[in-house]
Amino acid sequence: MNNLIDDLGRRVDYLRISVTDRCNLRCYYCMPSQGVDLTDHKEILTYEEIVKVVQASVRLGVKKVRLTGGEPLLRPEIVNLVRMLKGIGGINEVSLTTNGILLNKYGEELLSVGLDRVNISLDTLDPNKFKRITGYDQHRQVISGIEKALELGLDPVKVNVVLMKGINDDEIFDFINLTKEKPLHIRFIEFMPAGNNSAKDDDRYLSIGNLKARIRKRERLLPTKFNKGNGPAYYYQLPNALGTLGFITPISNHFCSSCNRLRLTATGQLRPCLSSDNEYGLKEILRGNKEIKELEEVFLKSIRRKPKEHQMEQGDNFFKNMSEIGG
Ligand code: SAM
Ligand code: SF4
Repeated sequence: MNNLIDDLGRRVDYLRISVTDRCNLRCYYCMPSQGVDLTDHKEILTYEEIVKVVQASVRLGVKKVRLTGGEPLLRPEIVNLVRMLKGIGGINEVSLTTNGILLNKYGEELLSVGLDRVNISLDTLDPNKFKRITGYDQHRQVISGIEKALELGLDPVKVNVVLMKGINDDEIFDFINLTKEKPLHIRFIEFMPAGNNSAKDDDRYLSIGNLKARIRKRERLLPTKFNKGNGPAYYYQLPNALGTLGFITPISNHFCSSCNRLRLTATGQLRPCLSSDNEYGLKEILRGNKEIKELEEVFLKSIRRKPKEHQMEQGDNFFKNMSEIGG
């Protein structure tokens, strides 16, 4: 039975877990180039604590979890966490969102402990541009992470591309062409104003509507039923392509009315909405002399406080960096 149903009838069965605020890149829209003040390790939830939180969420109706960050593969022994989560009865799916740099190293082990699926973020196919966007010369490693995921047979392999006017919109067709040759699911995401960083002041936003109009001038976009996921993407396919194209419209056509998720930050805050800085602490319960049952009460409280919708399209901007919340 699912107890995580809010007043608007939204049923939450999906928990996104940020396992670290650290990252080996500095994507300019996500983290300030000088980095962020790193949270003391003591403040970050341990794997045992994360498992307790997930167990409580499962009792209320959560069935799927996704590990994110910061960069989740930087957290030591991340494979063990995936193993522990896979061992929780009631969890049907454990997935990962990663920048891909360490996927070549950990892919095999992650698969062996049952990782179900992976999303890899890559905004450009040009190594020089990659360095400008992320601050690091690691393009080759990300490509090799994507190749590894395909080679291991992880299915689906999704690639997240944040769409940025004047930065990567000249590469739309290069990304699209990848789906003709490989079973990749390329998902274009509208750029969101997030955090106290330079992104909020610039004008890089491009709507998915604009993108689709450009694509349609050259390609036939066929709607497809492909929907292996928990999220708001809707999918198309080019004729005879092996992969698909996904579109995610947090700004131009937000999907708040069907939102099915809660977020857990690395420091143990439960966050009902990506764009609202309202959070509810779980760490005090995990580390205090409290009944574990109280975790469930915080879940129920946070579901009651889930905002109806975000206001990002009106310029509202949440204060935390995306890397702290988990994207
Ligand atoms: N480090 C991992 C990665 O990059 O995949 C996981 C964390 S990252 C915060 C999760 C996702 O959020 C990435 O796909 C990233 O591109 C996306 N993201 C971060 N900031 C964003 C922004 N301002 N607008 C849109 N997407 C953003
Ligand atoms: Fe790191 Fe991911 Fe944020 Fe890029 S998007 S800085 S890889 S957390």
